[in-house]
Amino acid sequence: MAKDEIDDAELRERLTPQQYAVTREAATERPFTGELLDNKADGQYVCVVCGEPLFASGDKFESGTGWPSFTAPAATDAVAMKSDNSHGMVRTEAVCASCDSHLGHVFPDGPAPTGQRFCINSASLAFSPADD
Ligand code: FE
Repeated sequence: MAKDEIDDAELRERLTPQQYAVTREAATERPFTGELLDNKADGQYVCVVCGEPLFASGDKFESGTGWPSFTAPAATDAVAMKSDNSHGMVRTEAVCASCDSHLGHVFPDGPAPTGQRFCINSASLAFSPADD
């Protein structure tokens, strides 16, 4: 689903108010509240809006911040970066490259091998378990 195919009324019906606020209005969920924060199963994290794979379980790490954290996206072109100057801070916003949904922010203080920390709202993601 590309961004010009998104039906806002359908999204308001299908998503929870929290999922809608995060993905469409760039809200941030309260830390330590996201359903996928402590998920350690093997699989893919897909965009809750369009279903595109965004992150892989192998790149998830425990950051202690209260948000699901990844060292890299599932594919380099899956997640797009934007400059975000809101809330009096200069940050890098991470959005779904396919549908432009807000996901979270990227910080340069992550662990090896990338040194990046993708700090992602659980509400922007759905989990798709790996097949056995
Ligand atoms: Fe998407």
